[in-house]
Amino acid sequence: MIIILKPHATEAEIALVVKKIEGFGLAAHISKGTERTIIGAIGDERVLQDRPLEAFPFVEQVLPVLKPYKLASREFKPEGTIVNIDGVLVGGKQVVVMAGPCAVENRDSLLQVARCVKDAGGHILRGGAYKPRTSPYTFQGLGEEGLTYLSEAKAETGLPIATELMDPRDAPQVYQCADLVQIGARNMQNFRLLKEVGCRRKPVLLKRGLSCTVKDLLLAAEYILSEGNYDVILCERGIRTFEDATRNTLDLSAIPLIKRLSHLPVIVDPSHATGKWHLVAPMALAAVAAGADGIMVEVHPHPEDALSDGPQALLPSTFEKLMNDLSKVAQAVGRSL
Ligand code: PEP
Ligand code: MN
Repeated sequence: MIIILKPHATEAEIALVVKKIEGFGLAAHISKGTERTIIGAIGDERVLQDRPLEAFPFVEQVLPVLKPYKLASREFKPEGTIVNIDGVLVGGKQVVVMAGPCAVENRDSLLQVARCVKDAGGHILRGGAYKPRTSPYTFQGLGEEGLTYLSEAKAETGLPIATELMDPRDAPQVYQCADLVQIGARNMQNFRLLKEVGCRRKPVLLKRGLSCTVKDLLLAAEYILSEGNYDVILCERGIRTFEDATRNTLDLSAIPLIKRLSHLPVIVDPSHATGKWHLVAPMALAAVAAGADGIMVEVHPHPEDALSDGPQALLPSTFEKLMNDLSKVAQAVGRSL
């Protein structure tokens, strides 16, 4: 249920509604827009049935949210959410570019990519220290050592860090380093992990599961929001289909669809979506044209030697060209880079 307050409702009036809702055994979540405040009452809504909250003169309307996700829905928050990642705003006018290697492999190559991302105008450095690999016999990531290199790269370039958390047991170390905590596609429905990042106060990048619907993705986001962390960015990274010419199938329509259903920012990862470096730039441009708030791409100085995902990595020079082209598309759709 959402309780829409009249414009200019005071803090005391908001507090009164929250107290009432909590008194009924529901959780209250507040969404403050420029025009009005909406309060979400989450839990068994039947307890509100015979309680006319509309009797309060400062309550405009009490509405049920028919979708299974509540706090992630546009109804709860009509204005788009802007997530602040250590000064980089995702969900505003600027299209945000997150780039870096699939995995942190060693200090030198990470610093080299970090400089390249910075010089080309990228905004956030990505790199996995804990890698969710399909085979247990392939490179699993450098773990804590990788995190120290990421922190060093941030200290040198000033770029905020996006890195994956795979297990709540790694949270203390990962949270020391990350500015944006990534939940990978394989863990999109790891509910313990979702609750863990929901309890903490750092932005989360939630990647769409390999075989998950948009509704599944929004319900996964709901887990994080319902714990009180509203700084969630969604990522379309391709889904499994019958097509095997590409690693996955990029669902571009998910971008405007999610924008309609939810207030959360949406970015696109064309690297994991296609698995082929030469498809990455065209899909990145298409994503921005379709309304994506940002893109995440893999960059490697020597893709042929990469310890993971080499075939989809962009060379620094290709990344630079992509940044130029992205800026033109961004401008064409009323955004900036
Ligand atoms: C990644 O971005 O490092 C990654 C493993 O991607 P995904 O979870 O989308 O497969
Ligand atoms: Mn990868």
